[in-house]
Amino acid sequence: MKRILVTGGAGFIGSHLCRALLAQGNRIICLDNLYSSSLHNIENLLGDPNFKFINHDVANPIYVEVDKIYSLACPASPLHYQRDPVQTTKTIVMGAINMLDLAKKLDADILQASTSEIYGDPTISPQPETYWGNVNPIGARSCYDEGKRCAETLFFDYLKQYGVNVKVARIFNTYGPHMAVNDGRVVSNFIVQALNNESITIYGNGLQTRSFCFIDDMITGLITLMETGKEFNGPINLGNPAEITIVDLATLIINKTKSRSTLVSCPLPEDDPRQRKPNIKLAREILSWQPEINIHKGLNHTIEYFQTLFANPLWENKNIQTGATQTDPYSLGHQTILH
Ligand code: NAD
Ligand code: UDP
Repeated sequence: MKRILVTGGAGFIGSHLCRALLAQGNRIICLDNLYSSSLHNIENLLGDPNFKFINHDVANPIYVEVDKIYSLACPASPLHYQRDPVQTTKTIVMGAINMLDLAKKLDADILQASTSEIYGDPTISPQPETYWGNVNPIGARSCYDEGKRCAETLFFDYLKQYGVNVKVARIFNTYGPHMAVNDGRVVSNFIVQALNNESITIYGNGLQTRSFCFIDDMITGLITLMETGKEFNGPINLGNPAEITIVDLATLIINKTKSRSTLVSCPLPEDDPRQRKPNIKLAREILSWQPEINIHKGLNHTIEYFQTLFANPLWENKNIQTGATQTDPYSLGHQTILH
């Protein structure tokens, strides 16, 4: 049994990771300030004696004794990371320093949830790990992109300077159950709109592409990476290389939900990447990992999750939305539950 700290553990990916690591017999400390999530995602874990929730901002130092750290705390949706860009950079950069200092002190392994945004609006496709990217340093996405780039720098400098056993995963668009209803990212937006027969909001002409990875595949990839020996640190791309345009994604979701929704065109956000597709040769070779769940199966699971959510008459009171818009006690963002 290992003691594992998951920062951002109440979020979309973090909550799946907590569940998977608990199921493997580990003890989990989930640290989160509920900035872009709610306790809903982890409410069925709160009674587990091997699970502890700490409400804390990673930008401030903390001391807990663990063997491994998954560093995920950071709003991932453009809607949320652009809400308070200075806070986003603090979360990523100061959060990375705090967690790396902790890992150094404890001689713990530490994995950083980096991102395909490292590549910005890429000029080559698919993107291999060797590509240095095409990033605007002062645009709307910069707090996130440059923050995550700086975090990668810190991770590799802690490796070189102090010998910390770091792992850096560059995560490509991931989706699935437990995305917040008001998360703002494309898959949850389109499913929620389609299920409510509302207009599907296509930003720009919808011909930009993304490659969507189902959450279960991502969790396997992250845990496999953490468990590689000290000789491999990354960075390594984790994602599903099946590329799709946003307009095709919308059509697929309308068909699957048998929705009466129609497409409406909205302004394209600043610096929205035109294409994104991971080269996962390295992940195949080093981790023997590749995604197993295609977009059809993954969307079916995700649609089912939201259908079940909306069928529950209590869902609106249960803070399934993020802390940003909720006022009920689940999401006040300042409670600490300790077992
Ligand atoms: P999410 O927004 O659902 O989860 C992030 C979690 O971090 C939330 O629970 C939030 O409350 C918490 N958080 C934010 N700021 C914090 C702070 N200062 N202190 C403590 N907790 C804080 O997003 P996600 O999709 O689960 O993403 C998790 C991680 O994976 C992020 O680091 C993100 O950058 C990375 N990532 C995700 C994707 C994706 O497609 N989901 C892609 C690339 C990278
Ligand atoms: N997008 C869209 N409608 C939405 C939300 C997003 O057309 O309601 C587009 C967005 O402009 C981008 C893509 O979908 O081109 C993926 O957006 P998301 O915010 O999910 O993630 P990103 O990869 O841009 O960080």
